[in-house]
Amino acid sequence: MIAVAIDGPAGAGKSTIARQAAKAMGFIYVDTGALYRAIGLYALQNGVDLSCERNVDQMLSDIKITLSFVNEEQRVLLCGRDVSMDIRTPEVSMAASNVSALPKVRAFLFDLQQEMAHTHNVVMDGRDIGTVVLPHAQLKIFLTASPEERAKRRYEELLQKGAQVSFEDVLKDLKERDYQDSHREIAPLKPAQDAVLVDTTACTLQQSIDRIIDLIKERLS
Ligand code: C5P
Repeated sequence: MIAVAIDGPAGAGKSTIARQAAKAMGFIYVDTGALYRAIGLYALQNGVDLSCERNVDQMLSDIKITLSFVNEEQRVLLCGRDVSMDIRTPEVSMAASNVSALPKVRAFLFDLQQEMAHTHNVVMDGRDIGTVVLPHAQLKIFLTASPEERAKRRYEELLQKGAQVSFEDVLKDLKERDYQDSHREIAPLKPAQDAVLVDTTACTLQQSIDRIIDLIKERLS
């Protein structure tokens, strides 16, 4: 099986780029952030106190997460319900970051992610794919861009969806989430030692997609 790991901070364009790269290669695209978001959504909806270990254990024993693919698009089912749309709010972004710092949550999702890579050729994106989940991936990419550029892209995406947000708030949320994700004790966001660093600050989306596809083809040839 072939695995391409793409890690990087929020808003670096990982999901759009990884999705297109997977399509070009005929691989499955796995968005692991969606798994943490599903758990974050559950915690929010059920008011779970994350500082209480017993509550976290109870939450994880109640949760069932399944990934399915419809027309090559990943859908996330939380206890049988498709939550693929519900997990895309700023509140759920932060809730995902909060639950993702818990070792039990990471252990809970580890097998599911590995299972996907054992059964399919994948492009998998997240924060710890190259460092923890798929340390033997044939290619690891650390995708980034300046915080301002990432916030600008995220802001424009939210405006297009009709959200009422300010650029300053988007930038603040993004920096807060980056800080939390890269300073947690377990599986912090950082490039794998053998990752190829790709900075897309000055690139168009198409240039970034082409660069990643070229890197994959080069590595596999
Ligand atoms: O990639 P996305 O922004 O959807 O991820 C939401 C949150 O899930 C991240 O801010 C991060 O805290 C967490 N995450 C993680 N490890 C991954 C993917 C996501 O900790 N592999």
